[in-house]
Amino acid sequence: MNAKTIGSGPRKRIALVAHDNKKKDLLEWARYNRDLLADHDLFATGTTGARLEETLQIPIVKLQSGPLGGDQQVGAKIAEGQIDFVIFFWDPLEAQPHDPDVKALLRIAVVWNVPVACNRASADFMISSPLMVSPYERSVPDYSNYRDRMKGKEE
Ligand code: PGA
Repeated sequence: MNAKTIGSGPRKRIALVAHDNKKKDLLEWARYNRDLLADHDLFATGTTGARLEETLQIPIVKLQSGPLGGDQQVGAKIAEGQIDFVIFFWDPLEAQPHDPDVKALLRIAVVWNVPVACNRASADFMISSPLMVSPYERSVPDYSNYRDRMKGKEE
């Protein structure tokens, strides 16, 4: 499959999501990295976003709470090319009512080659990457063959 690229500037559009047992971890991590995060545009699921805004005093676009559709909204933004980076501290030890949405979000991030940090160590490595603050061309497969797969087979 051919590849195309989707560009991002030095200011990234970052989505942050944390399951309840992981919110403390994310808040600590975000507090430590506050000044780095302040240079980007931040989006978050509802409860995570409210807690982050309180802690960081940085405006955050708050979507629905995860179980009410917030994870799907993040996924939709990825599909629309509106998110460059995801920090998703999901809980590996507790089943979530919205497990299918969690899986869908992780899947769509892979479809669009969006970087995802699922724990603090990954988030540390990724936030300190020089790529976070420089323009970056993310390579994505050219899905036009997939989109056209039914052409000529309609009848
Ligand atoms: P929340 O959602 O930020 O509204 O708690 C997170 C999630 O469970 O996906």
